[in-house]
Amino acid sequence: MSSIEARLDRLRGRMLPRRHDARTIAALTANPGCARRALMDAAGADKQQLAAHAGFPAPFGQSQFAITRGNAFEAQVKENGAAQLLTLLREVLGLDVTEAHYTDLNEVGGNEDSELRHVYTRQRLTAAAAGIGTMFDHPLLRLSVAGRYAYLEPDLIALRLRGTFHIVEIKSFAIVDGQADPAKVAAAAVQSAVYVLALRDLLGSEEAVHHETILVCPKDFSNQPVAAKVDVRRQLSVLRRQLNRIARIDELLAQYSDELTFDLDPDEDRRPRRSSADLANAIRAVGASYTPECLSTCELCYLCRDEAGGTSGALGKTVRADLGGIEFSRQVLDLARGAAPSPEQEEVAVVLVQAARLRREIMGEAGM
Ligand code: SF4
Repeated sequence: MSSIEARLDRLRGRMLPRRHDARTIAALTANPGCARRALMDAAGADKQQLAAHAGFPAPFGQSQFAITRGNAFEAQVKENGAAQLLTLLREVLGLDVTEAHYTDLNEVGGNEDSELRHVYTRQRLTAAAAGIGTMFDHPLLRLSVAGRYAYLEPDLIALRLRGTFHIVEIKSFAIVDGQADPAKVAAAAVQSAVYVLALRDLLGSEEAVHHETILVCPKDFSNQPVAAKVDVRRQLSVLRRQLNRIARIDELLAQYSDELTFDLDPDEDRRPRRSSADLANAIRAVGASYTPECLSTCELCYLCRDEAGGTSGALGKTVRADLGGIEFSRQVLDLARGAAPSPEQEEVAVVLVQAARLRREIMGEAGM
């Protein structure tokens, strides 16, 4: 075991390493500048459990309703050898009628071993790259994250079209009048980019997998599927950057004490004995860069929001940039009320005083 692995194991403590999937790998791109998240993800720490034990539990993960609806829509689109999906792809992508093979790679003779299924996926997709087969459901891909292979939930279809593979993702959020919730499309695009990267890795070729992926969703308020192309080049470059950053985790580790650990000190029944305050202090020892977006992307969000309270950073990247580096909300309010600015705050102080005056006029208030 390398010293880096030993450090990461010590950081994680006696918890089992948390396995990544496409959703968690996609989430790595949400706040690339956050050292706290990068360290915990590299160590495979269970952030949800740590947040809860530190006193800041956050409800995370898809609702049962969303999971059930998603499964039902996916089953409908794929029933009868993905007949509905093939019809749709023929229409949208001009798929030739003769190109209609559907292969389910979900299991290998009843064996669910990840490595075996991954090898089988590689055999079938490599043969497909040579011209055999069209549509492969549930290929088991993997991606190296911090030196460990993460097997990706095979929640996708690899479609070979005119010699190139496209990732097809089926999602249950609706496309209404050609428009979908931008946040959901953005999340789906990052997940598709994870699959593109993993499939390119499997086939050993960038060109073998197209950067244009296909999103299949319910149309309007019906269960009728509709397909849209999504270009994931930007997501691919963010993802590569973040995975490289995690691979260079030694530079980040060097900034923290060897003694740092998120171990919960479990007893023989795996009940944590470490105090919440002590754990929270260990978590806070690693720098974070909270933004409001953390609330939808990271299990530690409530802890980090609490810590960032009173800072301009807690108001989001745009506000922080507009405030030109003023760190605390208190300073912002003082400047808006006319407190003397430092030379570097003069410009933003003029704007804040004007904004405060406008607010008083609109609100009819005597002061802030
Ligand atoms: S919630 Fe905290 S740890 Fe997670 S990304 Fe945001 S700042 Fe980093």
